[in-house]
Amino acid sequence: MKVTYICDLCGFPQETVEIGEVDLEKLGLHTLTPEEREDIIKYNEKQGLLLYTICSDCFSQKIFAEDEESYLF
Ligand SMILES: [Zn+2]
Repeated sequence: MKVTYICDLCGFPQETVEIGEVDLEKLGLHTLTPEEREDIIKYNEKQGLLLYTICSDCFSQKIFAEDEESYLF
């Protein structure tokens, strides 16, 4: 099965991996509640399983933004 990682913030596809069987534990998703899983895992005929994550660009921007905010206080 194909798994595509998509950035939750910019919507840009990160990477597509081909895995034999979806193993939630391997994907590190077994700790999520069913509601959280529904929120970040979507299924799409073309792209397979869609996993919403945050790309490194958005991640560093987010950290940077949070840093800036903390300077204000
Ligand atoms: Zn992004």
